Amino acid sequence: MRFDVLTLFPEMFEGVLAASILGRAATHPADSAPDSAPRLSYHLTNIRDFTVDKHQKVDQRPFGGGPGMVLQCQPVWDAVQSVEPLDARPATRIVMTPQGRRLDQSMVEELAQLPRLLIIAGRYEGIDERVVERLAPIREISIGDYVLTGGELAAMVLIDAVTRLIPGVLGDDESAGADSFASEIGGVLDHPHYTRPRVWEGMAVPEVLISGDHAAIEAWRRQQAMARTRDRRPDLLS
Ligand code: SAM
Repeated sequence: MRFDVLTLFPEMFEGVLAASILGRAATHPADSAPDSAPRLSYHLTNIRDFTVDKHQKVDQRPFGGGPGMVLQCQPVWDAVQSVEPLDARPATRIVMTPQGRRLDQSMVEELAQLPRLLIIAGRYEGIDERVVERLAPIREISIGDYVLTGGELAAMVLIDAVTRLIPGVLGDDESAGADSFASEIGGVLDHPHYTRPRVWEGMAVPEVLISGDHAAIEAWRRQQAMARTRDRRPDLLS
């Protein structure tokens, strides 16, 4: 998979995309073949590089008045036109906006099947509506009902959630299929987890987990997952 991110702050992404599982996925070969490429790649593009304004401005005051600034059409449009032909795989266009469809695990699972995502991070009061319309088809995605200063953190949330579902990105012992909301477990919450020591601060781990009885452990985990889903997120069961 290829991720393209169009942003005014590419430097915000560098630590996140280079660290841990995301960094490994983008740098390690997908398999042991000598010419094997990594499973995915991240490409950051600075929208400001496309402005034709002599002062490098990309924003202007809103028509109709009011506070703040609006990201202009031209640099966003030109950035998309420049980046899309860089790869033959068709890009699914996405703009991060609090007014979009709310990201959830089933949307993440769907996006992880696609060959290429081109994600636009807004700033200021938002992006001039006309360029969003002109970029159709484009998916407007929100990460929740709150407003961030910019789309960068939202884009990183989306990239992280999608990356870990790409086959081979997580190691054998790091399956995503059993995580909360995963369709493989019916979209319910994950069961509780415990590790060493067996007793901590007088609190023992549930006996069944050290019984060695795999069927009993599986049944207990399933029952715990259902109980906490009923308790914390009954909406997931309806
Ligand atoms: N005026 C806009 C509104 O009320 O809908 C909010 C603009 S916000 C300050 C600036 C940018 O941050 C947006 O263009 C978007 O890219 C990003 N952003 C803010 N909150 C977001 C959220 N919950 N999900 C996705 N992107 C968000």
